[in-house]
Amino acid sequence: MTSIIIAIDGYSSTGKGTFAVEIARRLGILYLDSGALYRTVTLYALKNGHIEWNGEIHDRRLQEDILLGRVEISVMPRRDGTMRVFLSDEDVSARIRELEVARNVSAIATLPFVRNFVDEQLHRLGAKGCVMDGRDIGTAVFPNADLKIFMTADAEIRAQRRVKQMEEAGQHPRFEDILKNVQERDYIDSHRAMNPLRKADDAIVLDNSHMTVEEQMVWLDGILRERFNISLL
Ligand code: C5P
Repeated sequence: MTSIIIAIDGYSSTGKGTFAVEIARRLGILYLDSGALYRTVTLYALKNGHIEWNGEIHDRRLQEDILLGRVEISVMPRRDGTMRVFLSDEDVSARIRELEVARNVSAIATLPFVRNFVDEQLHRLGAKGCVMDGRDIGTAVFPNADLKIFMTADAEIRAQRRVKQMEEAGQHPRFEDILKNVQERDYIDSHRAMNPLRKADDAIVLDNSHMTVEEQMVWLDGILRERFNISLL
């Protein structure tokens, strides 16, 4: 059953990526990180001076670059199930995780022409089967996905997770800054006009505040066995 499409949505830092990568690795299917594509567009905008120091976006200049095909994004799966992302020929997988990108990405992701551009890329890459994580995968990108999961967890636990991730990447963030960033992104993501973050009616909720990855796999295994007769364990 390699053509299965699994859509995973939820708030930022709920562990969607970790969860999705583990599924991809165990089922041998492609993992696509839609947030990484929004982050890559944001990095492009920062690199090209389309975002001012105060967060103001020169959206017409960014739109023109997208229309002219200047924002060249490609992805490559790693053996461990994770995804590398390239902007033109540069591997930007690490740079898109920096705080400057995180600070601006939700605003960039509210722009309809950016959403349309990213959606096109996601369709092109994932139509043949994938596990994809994001904010609007089950509601807008793949509304007919075979399985939809909506992930949530306490904001403070999510901020702690993000701090740990950044420390592992050699950065030294302050917990208060990260918590603020998590809360701001929740707000922007759930209140934007186009395809806001919301649970699809047919999505199953997973609150993983107090669950390990293995416990989440056991939880999902029950669903996959029942619905598709496949197992992760
Ligand atoms: O998942 P990640 O935190 O890397 O996503 C970065 C940002 O991209 C999110 O905060 C959100 O604003 C935006 N995003 C989105 N729709 C998606 C995935 C991400 O708006 N499907």
